[in-house]
Amino acid sequence: MRTKEQYLKSLPKKNRNLFLNGEKISRDDDALMMAANVIGVTFDLAQDPKYQHLTTAKSHLTGETINRFTHVHQNTDDLHKKQDMTRMYCHKVSQCIGRCMGVDALNAINSVSFEADKANKGKTQYYPNFLKWLERFQKEDLVGSCAQTDVKGLRLLRPAQQPDPDQYLHVVERKKDGIVVRGCKVHITFASVADEILVVPTRALTKDEGDYAVAFAIPADTEGIKQVLSPHNMRKRDFIPRGFDFGFVDSYVIFDDVFVPWDRVFLCGEYQHGGICALLFALFHRHSYSGCKPAVGDMLIGFAALAAEMNGIEKAPHVREKIAELIKIAELGYAAGFTASAMGKPEVYIPGVGMMPYGPGACIPNSIYANVGRCLTGEAVFHEQQILCEIAGGMPATFPHEGDLKNAETKALLEKYIKRNQEISIEEQIKFWMLFYDYTNSGSSGAIAYGAMHGGGSPIMEQIAIYGQYDIEARKNIVREIAGMEVKKKK
Ligand SMILES: Cc1cc2nc3c(=O)[nH]c(=O)nc-3n(C[C@H](O)[C@H](O)[C@H](O)COP(=O)(O)OP(=O)(O)OC[C@H]3O[C@@H](n4cnc5c(N)ncnc54)[C@H](O)[C@@H]3O)c2cc1C
Repeated sequence: MRTKEQYLKSLPKKNRNLFLNGEKISRDDDALMMAANVIGVTFDLAQDPKYQHLTTAKSHLTGETINRFTHVHQNTDDLHKKQDMTRMYCHKVSQCIGRCMGVDALNAINSVSFEADKANKGKTQYYPNFLKWLERFQKEDLVGSCAQTDVKGLRLLRPAQQPDPDQYLHVVERKKDGIVVRGCKVHITFASVADEILVVPTRALTKDEGDYAVAFAIPADTEGIKQVLSPHNMRKRDFIPRGFDFGFVDSYVIFDDVFVPWDRVFLCGEYQHGGICALLFALFHRHSYSGCKPAVGDMLIGFAALAAEMNGIEKAPHVREKIAELIKIAELGYAAGFTASAMGKPEVYIPGVGMMPYGPGACIPNSIYANVGRCLTGEAVFHEQQILCEIAGGMPATFPHEGDLKNAETKALLEKYIKRNQEISIEEQIKFWMLFYDYTNSGSSGAIAYGAMHGGGSPIMEQIAIYGQYDIEARKNIVREIAGMEVKKKK
């Protein structure tokens, strides 16, 4: 396994294909350091015996100890550990830990490449190629990001119906030694500080959309890839340090006719498997949210409880009710994910067919519970912000800048007028409200909320999955039976 130092040293060695605000930047640019620092924690804690029961796993390929972010889940215990590892890591960095997109994509591709080869009856080598790629990925402890979301053009038109065929990433040429792809994947988190980008389709595909059914892994600095960045860093502090400086970064990942050699292509043309690949990545990723969203919930509960203390309103009944509401959201999200882990099986829901055994035996979380948990917590994002806003009052919106808290002319006056609770030191109160500002009123906080709502698919996508996969007919029969109506047999 790599160390944080090795990871950080590797970043500036990559080709310069990152663009920020009109400039071409290197991967050790200041704008990326907070995000790289977040990823760095996943190396530190994989070396720390206190956390290794969660942060490491045994490779099913080599038997070696590997970083859990490079692991294929073998059983329900692995799913539980991924969920708990994610919650733990997000506590440490206070937000998205950044490596779940990669592990979720590789788990989806693992099953899909196996099934596509099986259906192709030996004509393709996707799965052995994937395993070869995975072995190196595990050995070198590489960081993966997942590029699923296409720009999608007109939302009501399918990929093949778009006036511009590049609105969804697709194959433009098949060569003897590989394929050439074109398109743009958007909002790709941590792609600029990742080693590899795993590309999977966005949606279900039809027969005439085989060119869009493509999955592959590619180094993030490959020729032809341009990444246009939006970093979301906490405001820089000079005098009043945080315990941890958090940042994340998203990219428009533009594939301007990029060559992908065949041994990195894990699906190409099989439209049914392309749709399942899209569903499976989303499923694994929604399961990851049952770790990170409760962790963010824990932060919000802490913020609400401390803000109430600072304001001296912690005993007010409405405050207790609101904090209980935050606890319900976080823990129901966790409980749904826990159940999805416990009910994990090598099975997938195929639209129009139902649950089917799927893949080489790797463990897949239960889809209903993963989707229910993600939907519930995603829909609650702005409700949670409202609760924090109500309890905090207006303080975080207009909190003074660091320099004014240091300036001899304003320091003492500001401290006098910021102080609310006489039992808590003014230094603690200032640190608290500054972080509260970061999480609720800064530019980054807007991006965090949008990510928490839409990452892994918007709530509507989870509702579609829940409604489509749930056995509603069985529930109708429960009512029919009690009502004395005729119970209908399953079709
Ligand atoms: C901060 C952040 C980080 C992210 N990180 C990643 C990442 O690492 N990797 C990745 O692949 N993706 C990532 N995403 C993308 C995320 O998965 C998408 O935002 C999500 O799937 C929604 O897609 P969209 O943004 O294109 O919105 P849209 O799908 O365009 O949704 C906008 C609205 O249009 C509606 N709509 C869309 N299509 C239809 C239709 N056919 N019929 C009717 N209504 C429709 C939706 O219901 C919604 O109300 C990230 C997003 C954010 C905000």
